[in-house]
Amino acid sequence: MIVGIDLGTTNSLIGFFQDGQPQLVRNVHGDFSTPSVVSLDDEGRTLVGLTARERASTHPGRTAQGFKRWMGTDRTLRLGTRDFRPEELSALVLQSLKADAEALLGEPVTEAVITVPAYFNEAQRRATRTAGELAGLTVERLLNEPTAAGLAYGLQERSEHSSFLIFDLGGGTFDVSVLEYFEGVVEVRASAGDTRLGGEDFVQSLGRLFVERCDGLAPAEREALLQGGAWWRAAEQAKRDLSDADRAAMALVHQGRRIECTITRADFEAASAELLQRLRRPIERALYDAKIDVASLDEVVLVGGATRMPMIRQLTTRLFQRLPLRTIDPDLAIAQGAAVQAGLKARDAALAEVVLTDVMPYSLGIVASQQVGDALVADRFSPIIERNTPVPVSRIGVYSTVVDNQKSIRIDIRQGESPLGSENLALGVLDVEMPPRRAGEATLEVRFTYDANGLLDVDARETTSGRITNTLIHNTSTQMDAAAIASALERLALLKRHPRDEEENRYLLERAKRLYEDRLGEERTALQAWMAQFEAALNTQDARTVRTARQEFRQALDSIDSGFRF
Ligand code: ADP
Ligand code: MG
Repeated sequence: MIVGIDLGTTNSLIGFFQDGQPQLVRNVHGDFSTPSVVSLDDEGRTLVGLTARERASTHPGRTAQGFKRWMGTDRTLRLGTRDFRPEELSALVLQSLKADAEALLGEPVTEAVITVPAYFNEAQRRATRTAGELAGLTVERLLNEPTAAGLAYGLQERSEHSSFLIFDLGGGTFDVSVLEYFEGVVEVRASAGDTRLGGEDFVQSLGRLFVERCDGLAPAEREALLQGGAWWRAAEQAKRDLSDADRAAMALVHQGRRIECTITRADFEAASAELLQRLRRPIERALYDAKIDVASLDEVVLVGGATRMPMIRQLTTRLFQRLPLRTIDPDLAIAQGAAVQAGLKARDAALAEVVLTDVMPYSLGIVASQQVGDALVADRFSPIIERNTPVPVSRIGVYSTVVDNQKSIRIDIRQGESPLGSENLALGVLDVEMPPRRAGEATLEVRFTYDANGLLDVDARETTSGRITNTLIHNTSTQMDAAAIASALERLALLKRHPRDEEENRYLLERAKRLYEDRLGEERTALQAWMAQFEAALNTQDARTVRTARQEFRQALDSIDSGFRF
């Protein structure tokens, strides 16, 4: 059985294809979504998902989240005294999903299709494959997330030529992609986004609204409250409530005092105006790059948990002048598409090779000076390969000297979208000698060749002599080599996992501890008593006693915290 996995920044899901349908797997808590959070407990055991998420506030130094952002880089994250690469943390999430699927299917799972953002470069894709390998999964295929969303909506069943816009607003990232489907080939025509914009920003805006609106908070007190973590849960909860109701009560305990107020959806939307504004640019950019206008799109699809907010539906309806498709749960769509792809792969159907064309996610160019009238303006970015050009690609830019008898030209290779050369990412330099000529008379042809493996080949041809200077830039300098993978596998094998069958109990205890830290007074006394009672029940090791105690413990916690889980 090949599984399909949505390895998300905030949440991850696993599914497979059976009885003609994608089926998603529930984790031990009964949820399809597993938070992409890893924590290390005092005994050195790893915890993944909801339990780890509870520990994010009580044990921030032993808990990691958001590591998908660091895939493809050498940055490590420290949990307690151990450092983990992003591939290793992702592998722990994958292992947890794999265990859930194995528990349901009753057989080992060894092959997977994993989704990645369309803008992931070669290094990030390789890191994702490595994470799969470290988790004991052969990654049969990496599937672009927007393509997965398209598959979930049956794009592969269409006969005609069609174009889709996928609008994906997750926890911390926003991605817009334009897909074109024609005779079994899906092409990501363009992708754009904002890697610093997601549902989390709306939580922040609610948090600020809360402290501003709630009466009786002095400015210093507001700051203190926002510094702490307790408001976050209340705001996250209120955000979700406001997706279904037009007002939500927000309450939290701050320094022993209960602070409460009601936030209306209208207030929340007014406070989020700036965030909504930021969603427009990537949309415009993706449409512009794909050279398509709104009217020519066949479908607009909303995915990502944050598109549940009514204001997002309204904004997209207005922008696209139609009702976007969201018949599939927006947090499940990508995983369902991954499961469809896994099914196609397993059956080896005609569509197994829904061909994907990759695009260069960023512009590549050099820093140049530009003659403007009599003045010479330095630090201009001169793109040679523009973003969203399909790869492999080879392009030439022509440059000439700017002063008389200029001895050399420095080619400063950069990646990015800023008009200022220095603001873009430096990839390397190449110095080329020039023959003595008057300004503008000695010219250089700079050729950029970018291949599907993420290698940029730069050669510069000085036109009078025809002499070529060359350099090769690896876009993938940070990948793990075979030896690094082997040692990571060894280290991961030595790590103890928290036992899956005790996960539920552990989750409740971690949740109680988190509540204890947040609360004071009577609630603390009650929490102490409940925890002691539950631990005593666990010590009996009698299954029935534990079950009953668990139910009581859960109800007790729900009575002071909402039963809501995220
Ligand atoms: P990612 O792709 O980043 O892993 P998801 O697609 O799972 O993320 O989206 C997570 C985001 O969706 C979070 O910010 C979460 O608060 C938000 N979200 C989930 N359910 C709702 C809801 N009912 N209303 C508003 N936001 C929601
Ligand atoms: Mg996602």
